[in-house]
Formats: sequence, structure tokens, C-alpha cells
Amino acid sequence: MPTAKEIARLESLSTYQTVNHQFDRAADLLDLPAAERTILKSPFRELKVEIPLKMDSGDWRVFNGYRIQHDNSRGPCKGGLRYHPSVDDDEVRALASLMTWKTALVDVPFGGAKGGIACEPQKMSNDERQRLTRAFVRAIDDIIGPHTDIPAPDVNTSAQTMAWVMDEYSARHGYTPAVVTGKPVHLGGSFGREDATGRGVTIITKAAARAFGLNLREARVVLQGFGNVGSHAARLLHESGAKIVAVGDAHGAVFNADGLDITALAAHSAINGKVGGFPGTTPLSPQQLFETECEILIPAALGGVIDADLAAKVKTKLVIEGANAPVTAGGEAILRERGIISVPDILANAGGVVVSYFEWVQNLTEFRWKEERVQVELEETMLRAFGEVAHVADKRDTDLRTAAFVLSIGHVAAASRLRWMN
Ligand code: NAD
Repeated sequence: MPTAKEIARLESLSTYQTVNHQFDRAADLLDLPAAERTILKSPFRELKVEIPLKMDSGDWRVFNGYRIQHDNSRGPCKGGLRYHPSVDDDEVRALASLMTWKTALVDVPFGGAKGGIACEPQKMSNDERQRLTRAFVRAIDDIIGPHTDIPAPDVNTSAQTMAWVMDEYSARHGYTPAVVTGKPVHLGGSFGREDATGRGVTIITKAAARAFGLNLREARVVLQGFGNVGSHAARLLHESGAKIVAVGDAHGAVFNADGLDITALAAHSAINGKVGGFPGTTPLSPQQLFETECEILIPAALGGVIDADLAAKVKTKLVIEGANAPVTAGGEAILRERGIISVPDILANAGGVVVSYFEWVQNLTEFRWKEERVQVELEETMLRAFGEVAHVADKRDTDLRTAAFVLSIGHVAAASRLRWMN
């Protein structure tokens, strides 16, 4: 049982320190030398840009934008763009580093990066969002490209945002669809990219249920986040027979013990901009959402939501990390102590980057894949990664996250040694 002092120490870690704490648990098992740890943990390039923007009102505002490239030893950097007030250098650094470990784990030939702008896109007009995106692309133009760094969507960015990124980059470099993934299908986006992360979450949830003796058809699922990841995961799990009993978003949460009709909930959310008020449901506070009894809990919104306090109260058997870094280091220690199995973000939500890889390949080869091929290859990739992680966890008698990091660090360290350390 971790002491209160140890939990307090873990809870004081920043998001980036939390990822490095996860890294170190695996590096200890691998006996990784101190110098290699330092090299592998820290980003190789960080760009912070100021983006002055004339708002529709005529007033000027200045936004902070970031692009952080963590590692490129296995291929061009890859990672999303997030538009949210919480975006800062620590958060982007942590998310960039998670991308390195994620791309290595599913063995797609990319490194890790992340970017974002500290802003509240819901309070901006479409024109303002477009001008902000274009100005940001001009500011980071020097360090992105189809063979250097390839952005993608993340929180509050969409296929439309990616279309602006592609257009702005192409204005300088000629038509370059491969500079960004998650584009609309009309602009070289891949079939199956829109729901790829949610589909990957579903594939992993099913695999974990099988591996840990849960019958998905009898399982109750609680989900936080009903955006790109959460809504598709909810739909596909619902179609697989799971009972989604509670769903939350930024505005509130809803509960129905008999299971929510996810198709109707998606239509309600599209019209009202929130899940709250969905007929036939009881409203829940964010705290109540996480305390709802279930077999499978899927955080698919923001980071750091399951802290030590909440981890002591969740009533679930499995946590599937649809979001990036949704559990704090203290929360993780408590979940482990309580015997609750967590499937880590770098495995559970890797479906997006896997299909981003397929999109990039399609753009470079100028050949479109059928959706069926995308789905078959996605499933194969996710199940292979799940099998490898479960095997290492078993062999080394460790948790799934540490096992996933053992595998990822192995791949990245091998590439780094071969390219420039040996
Ligand atoms: P999104 O913007 O499409 O949706 C975010 C959802 O979270 C919305 O339903 C929003 O209402 C909800 N939310 C925001 N703040 C909240 C709060 N304080 N409390 C409760 N709910 C809140 O974003 P997304 O693309 O679905 O990303 C969700 C998570 O998944 C993020 O952690 C992201 O990094 C991760 N992720 C996304 C992808 C992808 O392909 N989009 C891939 C891998 C990981």
C-alpha cells in the first residue's frame, strides 16, 4: 500500500513528470543507463510561437502556440493539435512524449510530437478559428512537413482544421496532403480515420474483456467525453452489445441503469451541443459519473481526471484510457493497489495514429485504400500490440502500462542506438 506521503508526492507531479515517472518504472526493469534515459525522455525540439490575431470585433489578441517534437529516431514526428485553455509547454511536452511511446508500441514508422494553442475555440467564430489556424501554420512552417512532422486532430480540432493546415502549408510548398492526417476524405483523408481512435478503443476494450474474463454483453460501461473518441467508442461498444449506462461531457453527465440509446444520444448531443437533458436519463455531476458502478470505465476527455481521490472511489474492474494521460500518478498507484486493471493510453487510443499512418501512406503513394482494408489492418495492428503488451506484463509480472513502456522504450532505444549512439 503506497503511503500517504508517497501518494502526495506522486500527485504533485506535472503531466510531463507523470509520463517520465511511467517511463522510469519501465526503464528500471530494462536497467537502462542514466544517459540513455535522459536522451530518450526529453524532447529534441520545442517551438513556442506568439500568434497575434485580429478578432471579428476589430480588437487584437495574442495567443500562445506550441509545437514540441519529442523523438524522430523511428521516423517523422507525429502528433495532434489541441485547442484548449489548458494548453501549455508542460502539457504539450507530455503529450509529445506519449506520442513517441505510442507510435513505437504499435510499430508505425513515426516519432512523437504534439502541438496546440491556448485558446477557447468555442468562444470564437469559424473565421477566427480559421485565421488562427493559418497563422499558426505559418509560424511553425519551418519545422513541419511530410517527412519531418505531421500534425493531426486532437481536442477541439477536426477534419476541417486539418483542411486549413493542409491548404496553408500547400500554398507555400505546393499541393502536400501528406503534411497532415485526419483530413476530410475529399482532400485525401483516409476512409475510416474519423472513427479510428474510437474503433481502436473498442477493439482494445473487447480484447481486454476477453483477457480478464469479462463478458462484454453483460458489462456496464461508463464513459467521460462524447467527442471524436468517446462518441465513436460509445457507438461501437453499444453495437457490440455492451450497456453504456452513463456518459459525460464538458457540460454534464447522464445516467440510465438500463443503458443509453447511443444513436439517439448522439443526435441529441449534435442538436444541443451537450449530452445533458437527454430524455429518460438522470443527470450526474462529474464526480457522480466516475463513482457510477460499472465493469468498464473509459475516460475519453481530458488528462488528469482520475486523481488519487477519485481512484479510491471508482467502482469498476477495468479502466480503458481513451484520453491521453487521464489518470494521475497517484491515481494510478491507488488503482493498482485496488486491483483495478488499467489499459494505458499509448495502447488504448493508438487507433487514431495507426490510421493516420495508413492515411500518410495513401497520400505518399497516391492510392486510396477501401474502408474494409483500413479496418482489417487497424484491428490486426491493435490486437498484435495488445497481445505483445499482455505477454510482457505476464512475463515480467508487471502492470500493462509498464509492459507497454518496456516494449516502446525497447523499439526507440534500438533505433537511436543504430542511428547515432553506436
Ligand atoms: P474532442 O474535442 O472531439 O472531444 C472532447 C470531449 O471531452 C467532448 O465531449 C468534451 O465535451 C469533453 N470534455 C472537455 N472538457 C471536459 C471536462 N472538463 N469534463 C468532461 N468532459 C469534458 O476530443 P477528442 O479528439 O475526442 O479527444 C479526447 C481525448 O482523446 C483527448 O485526451 C485526446 O488527446 C485523446 N485522443 C484523441 C485522438 C483523436 O484521434 N482525436 C487520438 C488519441 C487520443
